[in-house]
Amino acid sequence: MTRQRRTAEPYKIKAVEPIRMTSREEREEAIRKAGFNTFLLDSKDVYIDLLTDSGTSAMSDNQWAGMMLGDEAYAGSRNFHNLWDAVTNIYGFKYMVPTHQGRGAEHLISQILIRPGDYVPGNMYFTTTREHQERAGGTFVDVVIDEAHDSQNLHPFKGNVDLVKLEDLIRRVGPDRIPYVSIAVTVNMAGGQPVSMANLRAVRELCDRYVRSDGRPVRIMFDATRCVENAYFIQQREEGYSGRSLRDILREMMSYGDGCTMSGKKDCLVNIGGFLCTNEFEVYQEATQLVVVFEGMPSYGGLAGRDMEAMARGIYEMVDDDYMAFRVSQVQYLGSQLIEAGVPVVRPVGGHAVFLDARAFLDHIPQSEYPAQTLAAALYVDSGVRGMERGNVSAGRDKEGKERFPKLELVRLTIPRRVYTNNHMDVVADSVIALHAQRETLGGLKMVYEPPQLRFFTSRFEPIRREGFWEFVKG
Ligand SMILES: *Cc1c(COP(=O)(O)O)cnc(C)c1O
Repeated sequence: MTRQRRTAEPYKIKAVEPIRMTSREEREEAIRKAGFNTFLLDSKDVYIDLLTDSGTSAMSDNQWAGMMLGDEAYAGSRNFHNLWDAVTNIYGFKYMVPTHQGRGAEHLISQILIRPGDYVPGNMYFTTTREHQERAGGTFVDVVIDEAHDSQNLHPFKGNVDLVKLEDLIRRVGPDRIPYVSIAVTVNMAGGQPVSMANLRAVRELCDRYVRSDGRPVRIMFDATRCVENAYFIQQREEGYSGRSLRDILREMMSYGDGCTMSGKKDCLVNIGGFLCTNEFEVYQEATQLVVVFEGMPSYGGLAGRDMEAMARGIYEMVDDDYMAFRVSQVQYLGSQLIEAGVPVVRPVGGHAVFLDARAFLDHIPQSEYPAQTLAAALYVDSGVRGMERGNVSAGRDKEGKERFPKLELVRLTIPRRVYTNNHMDVVADSVIALHAQRETLGGLKMVYEPPQLRFFTSRFEPIRREGFWEFVKG
């Protein structure tokens, strides 16, 4: 048998940031202080931080060099033009307005296009996206394929839009009540699952068949946050794309939409930044009016010149085929170790994170006792690895105030871009596997503080029973 050849990180390390090892006692103390919410832990107490891939990327030497070329003029900074060129070149949209991060762009587009009583179909909700849609008076309607809600279904494009669900909605409420279809590439809440090119094309065709009374077909706005990871899956899995560059594939994907919101903190490889794109001049003009109120001048949108320069350079780096192949393979590397050890994870493993299926992992804990929150807290105590809850806590409450009890109850282990080596992934795998072996000792949590919106960020918990794994929690 021939031995399989391995590849390594396609970069070498020029600067290092030491991380601190902690003792079990220190971590027990830290999780109690944080109210068993990993969002409330101090970074100094975390060994391997997989809370998010948002704003946690390592920048390249080229990006750092660009930071020194920040033109901090109040208006018309040179870096704005560089960002404009990078975005219009790589994404292919006509107009761009920078924002401080993705939700800034979501806010603008929601206020511009959504009217009270409108419906916004989307391939599964995302927390900030839905919040902005609902604040503008819209109702989010989930039109993702059913497979996305099944953590074990091996569909290669689980982020696809269900065309029947979408068309039913358009027919039921009429195209005038649909300001746009919101398509996330990839779908974060389903586990980083991609959308196929064929599906994007089909959604475009469907939308083109429904013309609004203003003469426009129903719009498609991408949540392009992880669009290059999506392009990578198309390159790997979809017929006809294996020989094509990510840059090419991304351009084709975006050509089916009318604009996008972007969190630069993900695929664009920066620590802060975002933007809104549109092909419509009127929408662009309204965005420039609103951005001055909420973010800053249309030529900086809440960003420093140096931030825009770093993002412009990151945009060219994100479409590098070798970089992206390694980025996604590192996520797969962690995922396959867990799958081989029999740990229940969302499959197929997505592009930015491995999602532990907490309902299957802790099948003795009812969803009202927050199994994913429990597992995330326990993982931190076990090894100092910080993940995050994506389940009942994140889903929040509906308009009647009832908990949503989503089908997926997950712990997300998100891999920052270019930050950790595969040795770090081994440490994570060892800890999850060890915890899986002692899962019966884990009891659920109760919520003792709950903020009214986006509760997962700041809510606090306590173990219901101070025994087994939680024995250390005293009086
Ligand atoms: C992170 C994220 C956003 C919001 O972007 P921010 O930069 O955090 O404001 C929107 N959609 C998806 C899918 C995301 O992952």
